[in-house]
Amino acid sequence: MPTFHQLKKRFLDSGYEVRLIAPRELERLALDAPLEAKRHMSGDVLGLIMPDAYVIGLARNQNTDERAETLVHELIHLYDESMEEETVEALTEEVVASLSDNDYRFLQLLVA
Ligand SMILES: [Zn+2]
Repeated sequence: MPTFHQLKKRFLDSGYEVRLIAPRELERLALDAPLEAKRHMSGDVLGLIMPDAYVIGLARNQNTDERAETLVHELIHLYDESMEEETVEALTEEVVASLSDNDYRFLQLLVA
């Protein structure tokens, strides 16, 4: 699995920025997105990579931990665009469980 360090480096090299977006707006953007959006079991879009704008959108109506986890999920997509969604889900849990305090603080800053 990619380490958090690898995900972070890929993200910092990519030029992408993280943006918190109102859920309804994110749903609208997801319709045009080339990549699969991360959806909650309820069907709501939680996160989305928008390559044209170099933006990773996160639904604003998640708490900090949820935003951080959704961001890890999207960073894994960014790291390997060909990865299957199920694999991304499984790796997200592993990466989140492996985060150091510093890693977590870095994520918190991005999703604040
Ligand atoms: Zn996904």
